[in-house]
Amino acid sequence: MSEQTRKTIIAGNWKMHKTRHKARELAEAVVAAVKHDHKNLPEIVLCPPFTALYDVVQAVHNSPVSVGAQNMEYRTSGAFTGEISPTMLTDVGATYVIIGHSERRQYYNETDKTVNLKLKAALEHRLLPIVCVGESLDEREKNETDEVLRRQVEAALADIPESDIKPLVVAYEPIWAIGTGKSCESVEANRVAKFIRSVISNFFNKGKSSTDHKQVGNHVPVLYGGSVKPSTVDELMEQSDVDGALVGGAALTPEDFVPLIESAHKRIKQQLSRV
Ligand code: PEP
Repeated sequence: MSEQTRKTIIAGNWKMHKTRHKARELAEAVVAAVKHDHKNLPEIVLCPPFTALYDVVQAVHNSPVSVGAQNMEYRTSGAFTGEISPTMLTDVGATYVIIGHSERRQYYNETDKTVNLKLKAALEHRLLPIVCVGESLDEREKNETDEVLRRQVEAALADIPESDIKPLVVAYEPIWAIGTGKSCESVEANRVAKFIRSVISNFFNKGKSSTDHKQVGNHVPVLYGGSVKPSTVDELMEQSDVDGALVGGAALTPEDFVPLIESAHKRIKQQLSRV
């Protein structure tokens, strides 16, 4: 499958920003910005804090904009004080969920194992998972990037049947680029996106005879995240294997976020003009 047939996605991770009122205002501004040109838009996903999910779901109603959560518990219900379950997310109208963001791994002890459990839960509950992977600066400097990504991707996919991974989205988010203003070079992000797809394909080809090998990774959208901003997005969107962006800081105002949508829109139109 080529770039033309994978989804292009611009997702905003609002992190711990925005009260309900501010969240609704931002969501309404995004909806207003795309309302005149619905054709060939990227998938636009807004991921507010849990407390604003319902407000944002209401604000984007009847628009092409989707809503995602930034995290979830993998169990469905029970004595898990402070947690939010997959059924609570679908109940409120979220359709996406970010899994394994590096801030969750760093500050809340999320591991490759919990990422795997959350990915399984998201697939089971028909939430579209955006699984984050990425290396630290130290790992990059030691040339361990590919090894780290391979470990994270394979662990996330453990025990998941190939037939279930259709909704999967992966976000390559080098930790050293998140919130730092230092973006990964677009060409390198493209190389890594391609590499992640090959890891996914090889994972599902293991144990099969070579005649049965499939390139399932080629169907998986791979986003880049890490200090994406209006001034850097065009170069990123010109890369063949980067299918969009997961965006933190630049997702917090329409002035920064809408140009990212426009750049992805341009990418889709260019892809279509080539077929
Ligand atoms: C993120 O939080 O996923 C992220 C990429 O943040 P920023 O765009 O601010 O680097």
